[in-house]
Amino acid sequence: MDKINEKTILDSLRHIIDPDLDKDIVSLGFVKNIAIDGENISFDIELTTPACPIKDEFQSKAKGAVLKLAGVKNVKINMTSVKKKSSFDTLQENSTLKDVKTIIAISSCKGGVGKSTIAAHIALEVANRGFKVGLLDTDIFGPSIPTLFDIGNDEKVYANEDKQIIPIEKYSLKIMSFGLVLGDGPAVLRGPLVNQYLMQILHNTAWGELDYLFIDMPPGTGDIQLTLTQSVQLDGAVVITTRQSLSLVDVSRGILMFENVKVPMLGIVENMSYFACEQCGTKNNIFGESKTRSLGERFGLDALAEIPIQKEFNAKISEYKKNQYFSQAADKVIMAVGKLSLLEDKLPQVNFDKNSVNLKWSDGRKTAIDNRTLRLACECARCVDELSGEKTLKESEVNSDVAATEVTPLGNYAIGIKWNDGHLSSIYSYDKLKKLVNV
Ligand code: ADP
Repeated sequence: MDKINEKTILDSLRHIIDPDLDKDIVSLGFVKNIAIDGENISFDIELTTPACPIKDEFQSKAKGAVLKLAGVKNVKINMTSVKKKSSFDTLQENSTLKDVKTIIAISSCKGGVGKSTIAAHIALEVANRGFKVGLLDTDIFGPSIPTLFDIGNDEKVYANEDKQIIPIEKYSLKIMSFGLVLGDGPAVLRGPLVNQYLMQILHNTAWGELDYLFIDMPPGTGDIQLTLTQSVQLDGAVVITTRQSLSLVDVSRGILMFENVKVPMLGIVENMSYFACEQCGTKNNIFGESKTRSLGERFGLDALAEIPIQKEFNAKISEYKKNQYFSQAADKVIMAVGKLSLLEDKLPQVNFDKNSVNLKWSDGRKTAIDNRTLRLACECARCVDELSGEKTLKESEVNSDVAATEVTPLGNYAIGIKWNDGHLSSIYSYDKLKKLVNV
């Protein structure tokens, strides 16, 4: 009989695949601190995000696999998670956000697409899985979180001994809203005052320790949004859109806003996508087919969820009720954050010269894409017709000496290129680049 050692244990775990990353948990480096004490084995499985939806599945599969090894009687697995510390974390050192592990922005290009509704339900879903979760409503144009949770005008916001604002707790969720600090104050505040209030609720709310904080952002990409993204270290941003309001120009503007401050896009949630008949369950695509697939192809963004129109989503939240759509959306968002930190090291290195944009892929392969070919492959809203998908950029419009002037990595999914012909909005997903060079 082979003696149990670290290798035999690791080998027994190699068939457990992370479906999202398409790799086994041993190669991903998740298995740590193996201890062998006769017939008793213990080890850690260290995930990248605490609320990983497949955590329990990993644990039971791993336990089963090691128990099958001859000579093993007991297996103890400690499920943990770590987040890589980023250089930006110092932004929050003097803030009440310092013990918040992960901050996710929920944004939208336009108002009224269901951003607050989705932020609230996803936060509620994660909180009810046993994690410490906060929801911060920074939507200065229409703070709807108090209404959604039926937090009335008579409900006062108090400060603790350290003069920090105490969030309101509802259904295991800590909530703070711009609307709550504003109270009966004037609905229209002038710029500097808006900023002052925003900074107060951002950096002076007594969250304590949180696993996740979801920030309901004001819609659009104006000054307020930029100030917000610059004053908090966000881990990622989710964009909420509807089929009828989706505009590629707005989405690419949003991507660039977040990327300018190094916030990766986690993906898109399409809300009010379809209407499901209550009687027969038939899906009615009343707003036409989904456009999120084309966003994936053009910009490399993942379509995280499609949420139908539902009667109960238009009502106040009076309890936590599990809902399959929000539950799946929460899974996807949480997994997308976890995935980010692992993919960082696997992105290609990019540089450019007067002839080509050059990529060195993580497997060592080097490829070069001729500048003119790449410029012609641009699929931004100025180069491709948004509705028909037809190319509007003509070959004759691109000179042979076209060259990149700036190439910036966008999260873990794309690069942005500024060209010397004045075109500044090209976004190429890594998948698209791979297709162009046959990698
Ligand atoms: P935003 O934050 O983008 O301005 P809200 O979350 O306030 O949008 O939603 C706008 C309106 O649409 C609200 O009345 C909300 O209840 C309703 N709503 C949002 N999503 C859905 C949905 N999937 N089904 C039905 N009504 C919805």
